[in-house]
Amino acid sequence: MHGQVRRRVYLAICVLGLVGCGWQIAGAEGHPLERTVSFPLLAVFLVGAGVVLVRFPDRIRWVEVGGFVVLAAVWLTTMALQLATAPDDAAAWASLFPGVFANLCLLVVLAHLWFDTRWALIASLAGPAVALVVGLLRFVPGEPGGRGYAPDLVGALGYVAVLAMLAFLMARSKEALALSRAEAARLRELAHTDVLTGLPNRRSLIDALHTAVQDRRAGGSTAVVLFDLDHFKAVNDRYGHDVGDLVLQEVAEVVRASLRPDAVFGRWGGEEFLVVVPRADLEAGAAVAERLRRDIAAHGFPGGLVMTASFGVSVLDDVDSVDAVLLRADRLLYVAKEGGRDLVVSRLPRP
Ligand code: GH3
Ligand code: MG
Ligand code: MG
Repeated sequence: MHGQVRRRVYLAICVLGLVGCGWQIAGAEGHPLERTVSFPLLAVFLVGAGVVLVRFPDRIRWVEVGGFVVLAAVWLTTMALQLATAPDDAAAWASLFPGVFANLCLLVVLAHLWFDTRWALIASLAGPAVALVVGLLRFVPGEPGGRGYAPDLVGALGYVAVLAMLAFLMARSKEALALSRAEAARLRELAHTDVLTGLPNRRSLIDALHTAVQDRRAGGSTAVVLFDLDHFKAVNDRYGHDVGDLVLQEVAEVVRASLRPDAVFGRWGGEEFLVVVPRADLEAGAAVAERLRRDIAAHGFPGGLVMTASFGVSVLDDVDSVDAVLLRADRLLYVAKEGGRDLVVSRLPRP
């Protein structure tokens, strides 16, 4: 949950809890021990938690861990006092319902809300374990000729323990599901990303082109800009492959920064890159390419290197397939190379 939302919910609970505590402390009904011990203690904690939430919002964890410990301690102490002061076993047994068992079940939920799964299991089993010890001290040995409440106690607390274990299993399976979803998302991301530049890879670009072909009927044309770094092999040969890699990464950054967010820009392979520009005709696509050409040529690469690139610009027309538009962009890129490089070509020269 978002931190701010959580803080507000806790603050609301503190206020409601304080009202409830005041009501209980002032009222004549309810167990006297709850009126004089449990609710006043709880009220002190709620005031403290409220102060922490308002003054130290980033210490929300204190409220959660403190809340669990205080609630568990208050409820179990109340239980012990009730059992100790009850006139007979039957009254002692009756004092456990519904408060003590309801609170033990609530602790299971709170443990899973506030702690990671393993700690939640430990915390939510600790409640019934302590309650078992406290209860057995009261009910063993039973009153002479009495009903004997020890087996009932074990049964009822066993029920809470089973609830705690089922909650643990549920949390575990949810955790496993979340992990496998995250892993699937990560694999999907990897399958569509170029490792060196972090840009969409060829597969991803082909997907974007197919989407553009399908969306074509929705109106507007899509420009496709293919570019290739000039004399890049010489960079590798002269400065080494690592510098070549660095140059590719910088080109990726320069171009990304220059493009509108709705353009899909990726690495086509090697030192070739491709941009899919939505809602752009040939002129607009050529203008984008021209801007990129200037940005790359003006960029200061490591060691004062000057890099240029050659561009082929095409536009998806009504009957185009992905292959057709790519072929045309590639041919225009070749013309740019033939024309001396550091050039944008968007039309085949007249024969
Ligand atoms: P042109 O102007 O005609 O494009 O010349 P060029 O030297 O850029 O073209 P060529 O296709 O001969 O060279 C491309 C080079 O890019 C060859 C290859 O070793 C290099 N290359 C491809 N992928 C990578 C990479 O990931 N890292 C590095 N450092 N080099 C790469
Ligand atoms: Mg090249
Ligand atoms: Mg090349």
